[in-house]
Amino acid sequence: MSAMPDSPANRRPVVKGWCPGALRPMASGDGLVVRVRPPLALLTPEQASGLADLAQAQGSGILQLTNRANLQIRGVTEAQLSALQDGLVALGLLDPSLDPLAEARLNILVAPGWSGQGTPALWTALRQALAAKDAPRLPGKFGFALDVSGQPCLQTESADIRIESAQGRVVVRADGSALGRSTTPGQAVDLVLKMARWFAFSGGIGPDGRGRMRDHLARGAVLPPALAGDTAPDEAGARPATTGFDFGLIEAPALRHLARNAGGNLHLTPWRGVHLPGAPDLAALQGDPAFLLNPAAPRHRRFACTGVPGCPQAIGPTRDLGLLPPPGKTLHISGCAKGCAHPGPADLTLTWTASGIAVIPGGRACDPAACIVPPAALAATLKEWTHAASV
Ligand code: SF4
Repeated sequence: MSAMPDSPANRRPVVKGWCPGALRPMASGDGLVVRVRPPLALLTPEQASGLADLAQAQGSGILQLTNRANLQIRGVTEAQLSALQDGLVALGLLDPSLDPLAEARLNILVAPGWSGQGTPALWTALRQALAAKDAPRLPGKFGFALDVSGQPCLQTESADIRIESAQGRVVVRADGSALGRSTTPGQAVDLVLKMARWFAFSGGIGPDGRGRMRDHLARGAVLPPALAGDTAPDEAGARPATTGFDFGLIEAPALRHLARNAGGNLHLTPWRGVHLPGAPDLAALQGDPAFLLNPAAPRHRRFACTGVPGCPQAIGPTRDLGLLPPPGKTLHISGCAKGCAHPGPADLTLTWTASGIAVIPGGRACDPAACIVPPAALAATLKEWTHAASV
């Protein structure tokens, strides 16, 4: 495969270091991407139906679930943006008092399926603190996990500061540290802010404005005694059941159908799906191929970004290849080394490069390849790997 001098194949992927929002959308090959961060990471059935209507009226009608438990409306034009933002405000999904920087700080993962008042009280306090004018300035990807309802289920999901349950109390834990600082729910948010400020003042943010807590600790940064961990969080529990969507995408009519039959609120999960803690009408959902109800379905375990033609940085097609992983394995197909669809390692990652498709077992899209194969050899390569993985 040859590449023109200015083709995407010859460019390094542009790492923007920030996530889109509703106030600050990101341009993509199919228009603006408008990210919605629903309060408590949940949608009422009315909000879900309203979002479907908005996506159809002011976008392409396609919505995308993200691994931050947010929801993105795709294919929005500049001319549609203002009406879309007004619609989100009317649905209670966008706070008109926020500025784009404050909105970007509201990266709060919430354990799906929470119950009781502990999670909403902590979320409200954390949200207020992060939206305040004097909140610490943090990198765009810096995030928080609220995991205090029962056994933690977010410990392997991306976050920099975690509030977790621990023997009937809560701990505030810096990602990358095995122990968290034991505290009370009333003091937890104050501790989170102190930890975030320490991260910023102790050199956690690079000259490019990016930085993650885990990397900071791995480079040798040491938490001060008042923030250092003293208690292990509770052991991780099972993930709540998630209804998934192929590649995390759902079309507006399917979202309306889901809202009608969810039997209650839709909790967005970082596994690109929704948890339905109410009484969903499974019979109504089962017949619709838009929904992945079987947790063993191979489509739950494949990840692919937009690729060619939707993304200007893409070197080749991804979703259209129609590849599926073998039983129990994860497969990630990436249009370039940025790896948007799955930032972590997969059992097998296939990354488009200038010289062919990089085959990366057990790694991320940007990791060194075991070999590079031409596109024509892809099916045979996958078959070979499937055979090797199953013996
Ligand atoms: S990983 Fe995919 S979506 Fe992300 S920039 Fe590369 S080609 Fe585009």
